Amino acid sequence: MASVLFIGLGNMGGPMATNLIKAGHEVTVFDLSAEACAQLRAAGAGVADSAAEAAPGKDYIISMLPAGKHVAGTYLGDSGLLALLDAGTTVLDCSTIDAATAREVGEAAAEAGIGFMDSPVSGGVAAAAAGTLAFMCGGSAETFEKAKLILANMGKNIFHAGPPGAGQVAKGCNNMLLAIHMLGTCEALEMGARNGLDPKVLSEIMLASSGRNWSLEVYNPYPGVMENAPASKGYQPGFMIDLMAKDLGLAGGIADAAGVDNRMGKLARAIYEGLQADGQGQRDFSAALEQYQK
Ligand code: NAD
Repeated sequence: MASVLFIGLGNMGGPMATNLIKAGHEVTVFDLSAEACAQLRAAGAGVADSAAEAAPGKDYIISMLPAGKHVAGTYLGDSGLLALLDAGTTVLDCSTIDAATAREVGEAAAEAGIGFMDSPVSGGVAAAAAGTLAFMCGGSAETFEKAKLILANMGKNIFHAGPPGAGQVAKGCNNMLLAIHMLGTCEALEMGARNGLDPKVLSEIMLASSGRNWSLEVYNPYPGVMENAPASKGYQPGFMIDLMAKDLGLAGGIADAAGVDNRMGKLARAIYEGLQADGQGQRDFSAALEQYQK
């Protein structure tokens, strides 16, 4: 069993750390929120007064933080954790952040002789609790082998996307495509419904035809078509519009850095940022359907 320092115990990090405890690992946690730490203490974790105090000597450091600035602040600089570690520790950042920061932390870790992997996830809060997340990893093959041993306790699909930053690029590509096919699915369903079709029947037709996609298959955005989808529960998340807008901003940065014309991603971003500006950020991202009904 491994010794782990887990940093960032929010909606995702809390259940992920809990799954590591359940798997028998020796887990120490740190979060700026005392309440989040107390919940993990009750689940069996040790609680550190600071990340720096607990980091040296751990087999793994795993972070699940809001954005690139939090990850850079945690690992880089004279007071960052990389300055305190040696080659015995593997660092896995599971946060969704910009690829440039992930590469910067990866390069700093390599210079210090420490294995680092950006390992963002797909799957959301329910998958974090169930231990069925998908991890998209960026780092060396050697670090990936070590990462798999611990990530397997929190997820079921673990991919090696390439060098540092590649995990964030894969995540950006995936979530941009998710936004685009969700919006396309909303548009097609409303178009059919307003032309007299039953959205349930239209969904069955498209599922058996070339329009088939994940949004139709497991997350139908039309209320009443799929009993357990957020659309049938008043668009309670699920996956919040705020998070989709964040991910589309990151995807835009990835496209721009490589000079890619991502006009579909930009349009999706404008639509989701518009919904945010309407005060809908906390609703599920499939609520985009309603904009076609106005
Ligand atoms: P959250 O806001 O619920 O949790 C973030 C936690 O980090 C908070 O508890 C906060 O106190 C803590 N934190 C912030 N700065 C810190 C620091 N410097 N040191 C220690 N703790 C600190 O966020 P979340 O929903 O758990 O998301 C975490 C990451 O996972 C984000 O990057 C998000 O984009 C990504 N993600 C979220 C989902 C989802 O459905 N919620 C799905 C996939 C990926």
